[in-house]
Amino acid sequence: MPDTAFPGPLSIEQDTIESLLREQLRRHGPDVQWSTEAVAVRVGAQEAEVDLRGPDGQTRTVGCRWVVGCEGSRSLVRRSLGIPFEGEQRTNLQCLQLNAEPDWSHPYHPPVTRIFINHGVTLITDPVPGGAVRFYAFRPDPEPQLEEPPSPQEMETLVAAATGVPAVRLVPTEPRRANRARFHDRIAGRLRHDRALLAGDSAHLWAPIGGRGLNTGLLGAHNLGWKLAAVHRGWATDALLDTYDTEQRAAALEVMRAMRRNILELPPNRPTLAAIRLLLPHLLRSSRLARQGATLLSDFGRNHRRSALSSGKRGERGGLRAGDRLPDLAVTTDTGPGRLHDLLSYQRWSLLLVEADAEQPDHSAAATLRRLTDRYVMPVGHFRIHPDPHRHHTLPTGTLLLVRPDGHLGLRAGAGDRRLLKAYLDRWFVQRG
Ligand SMILES: Cc1cc2nc3c(=O)[nH]c(=O)nc-3n(C[C@H](O)[C@H](O)[C@H](O)COP(=O)(O)OP(=O)(O)OC[C@H]3O[C@@H](n4cnc5c(N)ncnc54)[C@H](O)[C@@H]3O)c2cc1C
Repeated sequence: MPDTAFPGPLSIEQDTIESLLREQLRRHGPDVQWSTEAVAVRVGAQEAEVDLRGPDGQTRTVGCRWVVGCEGSRSLVRRSLGIPFEGEQRTNLQCLQLNAEPDWSHPYHPPVTRIFINHGVTLITDPVPGGAVRFYAFRPDPEPQLEEPPSPQEMETLVAAATGVPAVRLVPTEPRRANRARFHDRIAGRLRHDRALLAGDSAHLWAPIGGRGLNTGLLGAHNLGWKLAAVHRGWATDALLDTYDTEQRAAALEVMRAMRRNILELPPNRPTLAAIRLLLPHLLRSSRLARQGATLLSDFGRNHRRSALSSGKRGERGGLRAGDRLPDLAVTTDTGPGRLHDLLSYQRWSLLLVEADAEQPDHSAAATLRRLTDRYVMPVGHFRIHPDPHRHHTLPTGTLLLVRPDGHLGLRAGAGDRRLLKAYLDRWFVQRG
């Protein structure tokens, strides 16, 4: 992706991501109590209580300031709070998965993801570490009661139908990874209720078309983490936490809309298949579409422009707006050249003063801004960015950019517009006592 250290998308198995996250948690977080089930949740305006059943079968009650329900689509927290899970089940769509070593004539090397579309079946093949392939088929659902995972023979038939390769033999990898799934498209009526929050599949759920479930859940948790920490520590006003609800619901609804338009991963009928066969070769040659596809997969196009947390001047046409994610541009600060993302931090906000004129830096402005943000408890990093007229991609000059811990722009104001900045800080940050 442009403006990042990462050249392209990576397809990583969910269990690999989960073990990486577990490792990080071990390093930075508190102990996780495994094999412990939440059996009841009571949430009040100031605190919450959860009844936990441990591996020994004993139940105990813990009191806490916050509860985050991230316990999947059947979320106890969501049900306990009576929050509706709005939406419906997808009918006539079944998804089958089997990881296997294939013996077939289709040249599946080099290992890349492939999509095969044929009448009534779409097949996605993903290479998995060790040389096997994850076969992933979407098809209509003639037997909605059937729950059993697919046998190798059933998947062989679907692979043959999708690829046109008649003789396919699949040898499942061990431990066996096979499942048959149906889907609901649903979103919780709200993601915050007093001291309780919902994240991941507890908050939103859809058919895994486009592979966005885990990604969207993780982005939501990333959005929630810094907001919850700031409100919990008394750095930010309580209203900041409500913006998790509005921003994440908007993001999830956008994914749901995009997923419904994604005809490439749904089993097509004959007219759709004919249209795909006609148009796809042209579309695949378009570098603009390839760029758009990569942006969509990466989620870098996501913005929070409509959020209550995004304020200020609109700026030039097509330029950076409040709510946008800041690109990782090359910048020059008082300490020399560097990358913009190296200035930002998840632990604090960042205030960038982008000078209007490299020849005439305004030294007093930086000191005034620091005095202003020092009135609030929230930690803020200050950086003066020197404009570079020779660079194509630059930050808008003569501006104040207040960047959220997650790298999205909260406020865009003119370099001298301290009133706008103060109004923003008064609304979201807590003043020192
Ligand atoms: C077939 C299929 C394919 C998919 N493919 C993709 C893909 O390619 N890309 C992608 O991004 N997403 C994909 N997804 C979606 C992705 O798997 C989910 O979005 C993701 O797992 C949600 O994570 P979560 O932590 O919110 O919930 P879960 O993964 O459901 O985790 C919830 C956890 O909470 C535990 N739990 C439940 N109740 C309690 C309780 N009362 N007390 C304590 N613990 C509890 C559960 O045991 C579980 O460990 C796919 C989903 C399916 C079904």
